[in-house]
Amino acid sequence: MNERYADIIVDITHEKLDRTFQYQIPPELEGRVQAGTRVKIPFGGGNRIIDGYVIGLGSRPKYEPAKIKKIAAVAEDGITVETRLITLAAWIRETYGSTMIQALKTVVPVKDKKKAKSGRRILLNVDQLQAASWLEQFRRRKYKAKIRLLEALVERPELTDEYVSKELKIPGETLKSLAEQGIIRLEQFTVYRNPIGESDVLVQEKEAPGLTAEQKEVLDGILREWEAGGRPCLIQGITGSGKTLVYMELIEKVLLEGRQVIILIPEIALTWQTVQRFYRKFGSLVTVLNSKMSPAERYDQFERVKQGEVQIVIGPRSALFTPFPRLGLIVIDEEHENSYRSEGTPRYHARETAIARGKLEGAHVVLGSATPSVDAYYRCRQGSYALFQMKSRYGGAVLPKVYPVDMREELKKGNRTVLSGPLQEAIGLRLRAGEQVMLFLNRRGYAGFISCRACGHVVKCPHCDVSLTYHNNGRLICHYCGFEREQLTSCPECGSPYIGGFRAGTQQVEQVVRKFFPEARTLRMDADTTRGKDGYERILKAFSGGEADILIGTQMIVKGHDFPKVTLVGVIAADVSLFASDYRAAERTYQLLVQAVGRAGRGELPGEAVIQTYHPEHYSIQAALSQDYEAFYEEEIGSRELMGYPPVSNLLAVHASCDREDTLQNAMEYIRRYLIRIRRRNDLQLVGPAPESVAKVQDYYREVLYLKSGEEQELIRMRELLERYIEINRGFASVHIQFDFNA
Ligand code: ADP
Ligand code: ZN
Ligand code: ZN
Repeated sequence: MNERYADIIVDITHEKLDRTFQYQIPPELEGRVQAGTRVKIPFGGGNRIIDGYVIGLGSRPKYEPAKIKKIAAVAEDGITVETRLITLAAWIRETYGSTMIQALKTVVPVKDKKKAKSGRRILLNVDQLQAASWLEQFRRRKYKAKIRLLEALVERPELTDEYVSKELKIPGETLKSLAEQGIIRLEQFTVYRNPIGESDVLVQEKEAPGLTAEQKEVLDGILREWEAGGRPCLIQGITGSGKTLVYMELIEKVLLEGRQVIILIPEIALTWQTVQRFYRKFGSLVTVLNSKMSPAERYDQFERVKQGEVQIVIGPRSALFTPFPRLGLIVIDEEHENSYRSEGTPRYHARETAIARGKLEGAHVVLGSATPSVDAYYRCRQGSYALFQMKSRYGGAVLPKVYPVDMREELKKGNRTVLSGPLQEAIGLRLRAGEQVMLFLNRRGYAGFISCRACGHVVKCPHCDVSLTYHNNGRLICHYCGFEREQLTSCPECGSPYIGGFRAGTQQVEQVVRKFFPEARTLRMDADTTRGKDGYERILKAFSGGEADILIGTQMIVKGHDFPKVTLVGVIAADVSLFASDYRAAERTYQLLVQAVGRAGRGELPGEAVIQTYHPEHYSIQAALSQDYEAFYEEEIGSRELMGYPPVSNLLAVHASCDREDTLQNAMEYIRRYLIRIRRRNDLQLVGPAPESVAKVQDYYREVLYLKSGEEQELIRMRELLERYIEINRGFASVHIQFDFNA
């Protein structure tokens, strides 16, 4: 087909221009204009010539052809990294659903024009003793603003301008007078600092360890794959097998070709220890991004990148959009991690998006995990990714022995605490030996499924194979299809009255541990104790420094650090994640269990793990006991196939929220009917609408509706039609809609 028209975005920094404009491609430019090309176009009444970015081509005019203006020229640097990223944004918009501006903002950080305003910090300029005496004086004179500021500075000797003016409400004169007295110092900061810190630049370790035979085999295999054209490669290697070492060899290869590298690591694993390893090998070629950076700071980092100051960027999800001019490789470590899916709109997944970017730029993509996502493994089985396996731990360290404890038996013995007899015994042994213990409580998907503590029975949806969750209207509900039933007072299987929601927090676990082991020193790591800037690292450091015997925590504790003295890992309740109302619950559970178990025995001492569960026979638990990924995968993919869940099928979620319940329900009904009207494939299934697992947030009611189809393109088509339908129907004005594709 002859593509004579181009969809063009004129300004990527203005909300108002969140639409494309159609232009004609004049015959002399034919073949030179493609998605991603920067062009010169006449714009507005005066036909001023401005820059535009082509994001799509078409053969049909959208309005009267005579009125469609012509592209004036292709910009000199027609295709650059920016234009390729803009094309990527268009791909993201099409795949995940969002406005073009939302997609662009995800991909291209925008320079914050008001940045100068926040570019100042306030520092304490006197020592704590002097500060105390100043405070004394101010209190006597009742200088309220001065007292507020000084008290804050005593707590934290460095505050941002924004915090001081907005939160503490300190007037400018107060700052000025305190600065003149020399009590505080105002500091303007200019360029973004190298986040690794200057002093670290000096440590560089040159001699590289030789690869083991297994590692070498994987490395060679990947290099062969690259030569052959290069599918995405997945390294499935148990923890400690040396995946990072293989990444480094690959990175070196790519750098030698004059190309750059992006390494994605989940934020929680992005510890100083991890970064140092790369830093020791590649020195100041490396920089780190993190999600705490403002868009402006990210922009500054990206400027350094464009100037060629750095060649390797390590960071979480958003580092994927680093504008390297000659990107050669994207590594995604811990590929299975949940945090690779964006929580905001567009809800893109870093793995798929990395592969899309790799295609655009001719860059390789390498994924790594000890417990690959079912999605990635499925692609390997299908042949669209290449699979490489590493099965031994470096240095001959052995994987821990894993023991299940059947909590139903504990109840029979009269033990109703969260610590089973066998786990208590194991903890006692480790403490006496002077070794360390980690207790792991997975609170993900805590949203109250109902189960029987006597026989383990879990109340599930008869249609969706996910557990029903307790709702505040007193009923049990399926969050996929909306199926409802009354709450139970006794178990339908065994008649036991011990049926209800599973409740236990890290705090309760800590209390029980203290009761059984009053002499043990405990540390707790959860959302409460890790607040503040370095809360997370601080606790990990304290524990690895031997300041405690037992670390109790949520899934946070399974990442990042190595603790050579940990010889026992206890999983308090494996079932909490197993019966989350989510089709990926079994997958998450398997991954978490294997990762948790992998924490034990990382040093010289062999480790063991105890898994407490009401379902020792469940395939996720069984596979985790034997660390048998294939066994887990076979079961899981079978059930996905049966129920039509990804990756076998495709799942589009339409999330809607509104402050009025009736409006929301009406809107969902219209959406449902519209979707039925436009569907054209028989295999398309509509499920729901149903209340979300969190059915109301800040007075907003939330519902979700699912579409399942074997055809990805069909779901994309339907979503696009639905987006337009919602946009032009006023009835949806107060309803917020968000899409989720294969999440
Ligand atoms: P993974 O990333 O698969 O968990 P790592 O790359 O972190 O594994 O390796 C685990 C540990 O073993 C690291 O301390 C690493 O330095 C060491 N190691 C792995 N392979 C080798 C090797 N070939 N020579 C020396 N040390 C190695
Ligand atoms: Zn029962
Ligand atoms: Zn259901």
